[in-house]
Amino acid sequence: MADAGTESNLLLLDFGFLDPIEAKDVRPEMHALLKKLKSFPCPLWSSSFSFCLQSPHKATSLSLSNTCPSASAPPIAPQALPVADAHVESNPLLQNFEFPPFNVVEAKHVHPGILALLKKLESNLEELERIVDQLDVVWGMITHLKAVKDTVELRAAIEEVQAEEVKFELRLEQSKPIYNAFKALQESPDWNVPRVAKKRIVENQTEGAVLNEVALEDDKREEFDKNEQELEKLSSKFAENVLDATKEFEKLITDKKDMEGLPATALGLAAQTAVSKGHENATSEDGPWVITLDGPSRNSIMQHARNKALREEIYRAYVTQASSGDLDNTLIIDQTLDGILDKQLLGYLKSTLEHVGLLPTNREELRQYFSLPNVMEGLFNLVRTHFEIEIEAADGLAPVWNKAVRFYRVRDSLGNPIAFFYFDPYSQPSEKHGGAWMKEAVGQSRVLFQDGASARLPIVTIVCNQTPPMGNKPSLMTLKEVEMGFHEFGHALQHMLTRNDEGELVLDAVELPSQFMENWCYHRETLMGIAKHYETGESLPEDVYRKLLAARTFRAGTSTLSEIRLASVDLQLHTKYVPGGLESVYDVDRRVCEKIGMIPPLPEDRFLCAFDHIFADQYAAGFYGYKWAEMLSADAFSAFEDAGLNDSKALKETGQRFRETILALGGGKDPL
Ligand SMILES: [Zn+2]
Repeated sequence: MADAGTESNLLLLDFGFLDPIEAKDVRPEMHALLKKLKSFPCPLWSSSFSFCLQSPHKATSLSLSNTCPSASAPPIAPQALPVADAHVESNPLLQNFEFPPFNVVEAKHVHPGILALLKKLESNLEELERIVDQLDVVWGMITHLKAVKDTVELRAAIEEVQAEEVKFELRLEQSKPIYNAFKALQESPDWNVPRVAKKRIVENQTEGAVLNEVALEDDKREEFDKNEQELEKLSSKFAENVLDATKEFEKLITDKKDMEGLPATALGLAAQTAVSKGHENATSEDGPWVITLDGPSRNSIMQHARNKALREEIYRAYVTQASSGDLDNTLIIDQTLDGILDKQLLGYLKSTLEHVGLLPTNREELRQYFSLPNVMEGLFNLVRTHFEIEIEAADGLAPVWNKAVRFYRVRDSLGNPIAFFYFDPYSQPSEKHGGAWMKEAVGQSRVLFQDGASARLPIVTIVCNQTPPMGNKPSLMTLKEVEMGFHEFGHALQHMLTRNDEGELVLDAVELPSQFMENWCYHRETLMGIAKHYETGESLPEDVYRKLLAARTFRAGTSTLSEIRLASVDLQLHTKYVPGGLESVYDVDRRVCEKIGMIPPLPEDRFLCAFDHIFADQYAAGFYGYKWAEMLSADAFSAFEDAGLNDSKALKETGQRFRETILALGGGKDPL
């Protein structure tokens, strides 16, 4: 029964940080939350103003408009709006009416009436923000746990309520009264007055409503909704198959010869994995070792193993994962593209940029200079200098989902807390999705403040998949892992330093601050500050630093080509590809590779079956954003170079400028 456990359900309590949730909490909780949200007093259309009445849509059992008296309710007694203006109380524009009172409206009513109405609508927007936020935060919490601590039970529990959640979101996004209210705000004479961020939100909401087919007739909308439900399911299934395929593959190695060439860290990791798979006596020196398709394990073989056959085996396993048997994503790709084709009826191609890491790996021998505690300290020093923020450990303040997860508080230069973040660093192949990403757990909001604070503070999660500590050694990182950490922290900065307190951020150039932060990994002072040998404390030798700089562009052409391949395949699949037609998705990939002059993929290459950026992570038709934002981030970093990378005063000033613009404005302003 859906209501079982509602009262004690953790997800329904007020909370500051992510609480320990179990799969059993999901179903009753989401039912209860959706029920609660459905019965939320109708914020925007409870008074019968004309533009709220334009097209009362067909009431269904789930329609938000059910809670509104708008279309069917009897006239309500006149009720003045709470605005301190003498004209307002008697203003006929502001009363509830059944039929427009054309006989009493005069010119003098227009100005005060419309201003008061807009003020009322603005506060109603805040109510709307509350509704949307509650669902965003709670649903975000559950899906976050699925990404970092996947279990069969949690999967099933989410699957069971997903359809209802999508249905509710669609109802909200497709609500004509809300759409009309936003339109009215945009068309009002005061439209140029509101703060820029609010304008962007309204513009994006209106556009979003069009994207979500508010303009379609009711019969077509049903079809659209069914399609959205299907797409949501396909996206979850795609990601689950990739994770399961990664989990399914393991290669046990007992012959020491096969491991030749592997550095100590990689041997240690492989032995540690073997222990976790039941080979209790596995040791770094004598094995046995287990190789998996998880990033740190796979990459160590591809880079260092002398055994060519082993490298080939791992490569083939990697490029064919999730492409056969029960976990085959081929059909899911076609079904997804087919569903997206249906969405293009309105002439839009929706592209919401989000992020998962996209970085190749780097030189193993440098690891000993990059221990995680040093890297974090260097990163925190950098942002202290440039952005005048202080980061302090706050472990224990908030519950975490895994004991390796750290929690931090961010303070401004006056010592006031301004944000919090979780950092979940290590690879956990059995339950955690691969890659690296940043997600907002709780957004900054002026409306949703807590405990009398001026705004609710943002809380973000930063998730990486780097090599875990081994024995008494700290986690030793490759330079690429360091860059990835800086990259994700760049995303986090934009969410944590935003001054946009109007709720939802709209991030067009989302990869700008992240790629910008990567540049600092090559900045002499920053890098030398971080790179200390984990045992001896010795600094990175100068000649090694020079080599690193030189190596930065090593094979840069190849990686550019590979990004262009992915971006082009993505765009082709979302624009020209005909699902079920003559060409398969793999043919498209092959054609793109040939066109841009890349070595064609192996005939059995099924890399697309694990391309979760575009099939499970909302980068659909938006993968090119990485390249676009890379250019913007290079421009931003040039501003620091122009100021003088060795001039700390100039750097500080430029840092402030970057903070006040790119970081503080968030998506509140169109990046162009
Ligand atoms: Zn990113």
